[in-house]
Amino acid sequence: MSTDENTLLAFGERYLYQNYRQAPMVLSHGKGVEVWDTSGKRYLDMTAGVAVNALGHAHPAWVGAVSDQAGRLAHVSNYFFNEPNLHLAKRVVEATGMTRVLFCNSGTEAIEACLKLVRRHFHDNGAPERTRIIAFDKAFHGRTMGALAATGQATYRDGFGPLGPVTHVPFGDLDAVRAAISGDVAAVLVEPVQGEGGVVPAPAGFLAGLRALCDQRGVLLIADEIQTGVGRTGRFLAMEHSGVKADAVALAKGLGGGFPIGAMLCQAHLANALPPGSHGTTFGGNPLASAAALAVLDTLDKEHLLQRAQASGEHLNGRLMGLMKKYPQKLVATRGLGLLQALETANTVDTRALVGLLREEGLLVTIAGGQALRFSPPLVVTREQLDEAVAIVDKVVGGLS
Ligand code: PLP
Repeated sequence: MSTDENTLLAFGERYLYQNYRQAPMVLSHGKGVEVWDTSGKRYLDMTAGVAVNALGHAHPAWVGAVSDQAGRLAHVSNYFFNEPNLHLAKRVVEATGMTRVLFCNSGTEAIEACLKLVRRHFHDNGAPERTRIIAFDKAFHGRTMGALAATGQATYRDGFGPLGPVTHVPFGDLDAVRAAISGDVAAVLVEPVQGEGGVVPAPAGFLAGLRALCDQRGVLLIADEIQTGVGRTGRFLAMEHSGVKADAVALAKGLGGGFPIGAMLCQAHLANALPPGSHGTTFGGNPLASAAALAVLDTLDKEHLLQRAQASGEHLNGRLMGLMKKYPQKLVATRGLGLLQALETANTVDTRALVGLLREEGLLVTIAGGQALRFSPPLVVTREQLDEAVAIVDKVVGGLS
């Protein structure tokens, strides 16, 4: 028996903790890049659950793998190995060029694992004073206390202090990083493209400069690839665009294609930093999550989704550029890498209201950095679907007063 949409929305208002700003509709099902709400309205999904549904909704390979695994073995705990997890470990280590992987359940947990890895590494190697992290203004690394300390946005941090030792410096400013590296600094934590901060790619040479600086000063480099990883930017890791290898990498979002899973990957010199008992989680790398992630990795290869993300991203960026030229008073910038793209609105535009108008016209996008529309569609998106999305933005922005 289905429940009508207004009744469901009333449940949300009455029972849910009111800390999300959810749109007033209830999503019911999806197929590829399309989703439908419980009233039957269809939307083109340019959010992919914030860069999560890499294969789109209900991809047959993903559904088959998850269903099959659910009927076989869903969870066993980390007291035992499980088959899909061992296959996944091999695949994800090979895909990233790292040495070892530790699984968890979300992005913020992957960051926590990286922070604990770094802390314990220096503790056990005669430099316990190295506890400070350098992170960047407008960075987003998650909301647990460690990840929140590294997040560089007041809206997320306010009211939760005191937070761990982190120094924030402007993104892209190598001199500021150099000046901030004091004797207590353990690591630099960086997103190769700042996602929540507004879809801002690192400036040319910045990541290579960070790598060189970290090497000179004995500081570790951690890449937060939670939003950018698993093919989103056209490479498996966005760091590959600049040829830089971090000491540790955090993955989540796209890895499970909609099933919660995160991962901390590290190079050999960090492989023993977290001995048994020092870190872990009940659900991390369970068979069901691992089967989902394996289906994602298989399908990335089979459907050439990295190449497609690169080409589709260029196409989308070109189309967004066209819109910007058409509406110079309303749209002021486009930027991004692969299928993580942003269209920044003038500060005279109420971006939140614009997102609502786009939704009414059947297009789902999110806001990043306060003033930008973020496009992070499934990697399987077609040019026709991108063109349809752009046509909706054209119509709605053209109608703004
Ligand atoms: N790091 C980055 C770059 C993110 O984009 C996010 C989520 O948006 C996180 C960390 C936190 O991930 P999660 O929401 O899975 O905890």
